[in-house]
Amino acid sequence: MKMQLVYPYWPKLNRQTEFHLPPHGPVVFAAQVPGWVALEFVDENVDPMIFDETVDLAALSVMLTCQLPRAFEIADQYRRMDIPVIMGGIAVSLHADEAAGHADAVFLGEAEGRFESLLEDFRNGRLKRRYDYLHDPPDIRLVGPARREILNRDRYVYRGVRMLDLVHASRGCRFHCFPCCVGFLGGRKFRPRPIETVIAEMASIPNNRLFLVDNSLAQDREWLMELFSAMVPLKKKWVSHPILNDDSVLELAARAGCWYVYQAVFDTSEVIRNRIKRLKDHGIGVEGTILLGTDDQNEDAIYRLVDFLLEIDLDMAEFTILTPFPHTPIRAKFQKQGRILSDNWIEYTCDRVVFQPKNMSVETLERMYHYAWDTFYENASCQWKMGELFQKVIRKEMADGTYRRFEGKAPRKPRFFKK
Ligand code: SF4
Repeated sequence: MKMQLVYPYWPKLNRQTEFHLPPHGPVVFAAQVPGWVALEFVDENVDPMIFDETVDLAALSVMLTCQLPRAFEIADQYRRMDIPVIMGGIAVSLHADEAAGHADAVFLGEAEGRFESLLEDFRNGRLKRRYDYLHDPPDIRLVGPARREILNRDRYVYRGVRMLDLVHASRGCRFHCFPCCVGFLGGRKFRPRPIETVIAEMASIPNNRLFLVDNSLAQDREWLMELFSAMVPLKKKWVSHPILNDDSVLELAARAGCWYVYQAVFDTSEVIRNRIKRLKDHGIGVEGTILLGTDDQNEDAIYRLVDFLLEIDLDMAEFTILTPFPHTPIRAKFQKQGRILSDNWIEYTCDRVVFQPKNMSVETLERMYHYAWDTFYENASCQWKMGELFQKVIRKEMADGTYRRFEGKAPRKPRFFKK
């Protein structure tokens, strides 16, 4: 049996340097595809879509809300070709009913230990319309290494530099932030993977540079200390979402190869200033993630925030506009207040205003978004600052002998994989 797995195109932030990281959801999912299925993978963000009439089944892996319009186009085309379509991924779980209108089956939740039964049903002609495991996550010990061999790896290169490989050491998040849908996705409980499994997976990745895509590395101090201690001998260099604000943890993270973190900067307080300073004191770079348009901001507050970011000397900043994604606390609030202005998912790219801001007009928020990007990068472009960050990692790699020059190869054509 042949199955094509597609990761649909999605529009990047209009102010961001365009580069592509290898997608994580599809390779984690692909590990659940059994050996009796030949698998072909297309990441439409780096390769052209090929509608393959020889496949028995098309599977769409959809992470982002703004990927959905394209996912639906692909699904509709395959169904016109009489090839059945299944869909899964975070965005499908968030938009299950809508996705079901374009698919023969939707798979909701995490796939480990569950997906093969869908394929058995398909093989036996009894595919169900919905496989719903959203609030019943599998045993975390079932999460094995991702199937990265399906990636067309030479596509994930920016200006001659190989991009990071994505890996996760835990799932879930015990926090409940207002713009976030992790709670709805069944993830309110922190679920760490066994450390030996994570380390074995990291060690098996040929790339020395990793992105730990865990929701938050600020959830369990003891587990973090154990994880980072086990990572030290690997000598990998890595990027992550926020890490626990604790000197011993950060010191160990730096020794374990932490290169920079994405850190939310939501105000101009001393708490934030000290947090950034502490990271930098440990030799860890910081890319601030800055949400614009929250109810406590007006135009002046955004001017002050941008001044503050320059003052605390962030390595990089990524500005996004608050976006009320389905099943988030902020969407529930805006719906109640009648403030949602658009449900056109292609506009949910975090660089458009799709709700009525509280303390400014839509036009002012749009203008302030561009002001923030323009001002932060006035003296050094985004590409230049990104180059600086990569210089940092190259220096670290040279110091411990892990630096390897990227030897580019011609991109491969899509092909079928059998386990
Ligand atoms: S935004 Fe991050 S820290 Fe907050 S609930 Fe979501 S995953 Fe957790």
